[in-house]
Amino acid sequence: MSDGKVTVSLTGEEWKLVSALRGIPPSLLREKTMAAVEALVDYAREPKCSEMQADGVPCETVTALCEQCLHVTWLVDSLRQRTLEARKQIGASN
Ligand SMILES: [Zn+2]
Repeated sequence: MSDGKVTVSLTGEEWKLVSALRGIPPSLLREKTMAAVEALVDYAREPKCSEMQADGVPCETVTALCEQCLHVTWLVDSLRQRTLEARKQIGASN
C-alpha cells in the first residue's frame, strides 16, 4: 500500500458508489461531496445523537428511530428527491 492504493473486493452496490465518486471531476464540489459522504457515513455508522431518547439512553444506532436520526434520514431523502427532480427537468429541456 505504499502508493496509497488498496485492493478490495466490492459488492455491485459498493462499486456503483465508488465508481460514481470517482467520476466526479476534480473540483471544489468534488471535495465537498467526498467530505459530505464521509461525514454521512460516519454519522450513520455511529450517530451518537446528543439528545437522550425517550428511554433515557443516548442514541447510538440509526435504527433507534430517534428524532435527530429521523431528521437526518429525511434530509437525505429530500436531497435524493431533489436530485431526481432536477435530473428530470434537465432531461425534459434537452
Ligand atoms: Zn439518533
